[in-house]
Amino acid sequence: MMKFLSKAKREDIFGKTCLLRADLNIKSGDRGSSLRIKRLIPTINFLLKNNCKIILLSHRGRPKPINGPSLRSKIKILKDDSLFSVAKELSASLGKKVSFEEGLDLKEIKKRIDIFESGIFMLENLRFFLGEDKNDLKFAKNLSAFGDFYVNDAFAFSHRKNASMCAITKFLPSYFGLNLESEMKNLDKVIKNPKKPLVVILGGAKVSDKAGLINNLIKKADFILLGGGLANTFFALKNIPIGDSLCEKNYDIKPFEKLIGKKIILPSDVVISKKRILDIGSKTIEAYSSIIKKAKTIIWNGPMGMIEDKKFEKGSLGVLKAIISSGAFSVVGGGETTSFLIKKSLDKKISFLSTGGGAMLAYLSGKKLPALK
Ligand code: ADP
Ligand code: MG
Repeated sequence: MMKFLSKAKREDIFGKTCLLRADLNIKSGDRGSSLRIKRLIPTINFLLKNNCKIILLSHRGRPKPINGPSLRSKIKILKDDSLFSVAKELSASLGKKVSFEEGLDLKEIKKRIDIFESGIFMLENLRFFLGEDKNDLKFAKNLSAFGDFYVNDAFAFSHRKNASMCAITKFLPSYFGLNLESEMKNLDKVIKNPKKPLVVILGGAKVSDKAGLINNLIKKADFILLGGGLANTFFALKNIPIGDSLCEKNYDIKPFEKLIGKKIILPSDVVISKKRILDIGSKTIEAYSSIIKKAKTIIWNGPMGMIEDKKFEKGSLGVLKAIISSGAFSVVGGGETTSFLIKKSLDKKISFLSTGGGAMLAYLSGKKLPALK
């Protein structure tokens, strides 16, 4: 059974080696990525205070896994697929040495690390190993040999059934890390008895991911405000022409049809460029803002428009400002959405930034995440 690291008995962890699973799946040069690193630091410091040696595990990108140890020595690992630069970034944020353990020969690496009594070590991208994605027991067992106990602090990856997230807990005493604990507590606040009105704002590109959230929150939410590709999808299904706009064709809005204009609010005006809807319009910003300002609880996932271009960020900025001035308990998640807040230096004005995109949506949708079971 998983327990909380914050409540671990001292004798169970003190002076021991911890296998710490983090989500360091970070794109090079992504500013928002600092959030995942920042939120891992309290757990690392907690472990160091308990004299633990730390072995960090993570995945990154989608490299092709390597089949069999004989091939491992020969392959060339691309820079963006390696965790090497992430280890450097983490080390700089932490102000402590993080030794990156190059290579994929786990036995070799273990020998190297075993010599040290203490320190922070990071293994190479777990996605190079076939067993990781397959939640393979044998691979999990090999990993487990590196430590005395296991901590999962990779909330953003908890919706995936991988060996270092699930199978590994069969071999070691297992704990939820401090970040994961705070994610669960804060997300629980917005789904279990939220202070009303509860306003949910959904946008972005990954429509089918977010649709599940509408299903689960429709009863609890007072308003669901739509933007981005999600709004376009609703437009298209209502036969409102959307030109070449981003939308999801295989999504059925029938169950929600009666609620459109009541609980589910669509933009009343939009910004169009080259036959594409790229942001919500100024009247919509005003209407959404007045609903948001009355909220006591707010969930936001997915930008209102194509925020990478300054011309189309007004909708997301407007929503963000309304959230801040509402004084409501607010939770914001999603890779692009949280990056946007950090870029605008407005992230600290939000009650809780979730490090999860898909995982946050799955959690809020009421699904049991495999790694949290
Ligand atoms: P998050 O990462 O916050 O969960 P998504 O990954 O679902 O959000 O989508 C983010 C992307 O959605 C952004 O890159 C943004 O440019 C894009 N986007 C939002 N609205 C539109 C739109 N109307 N047209 C095209 N792209 C959009
Ligand atoms: Mg995204």
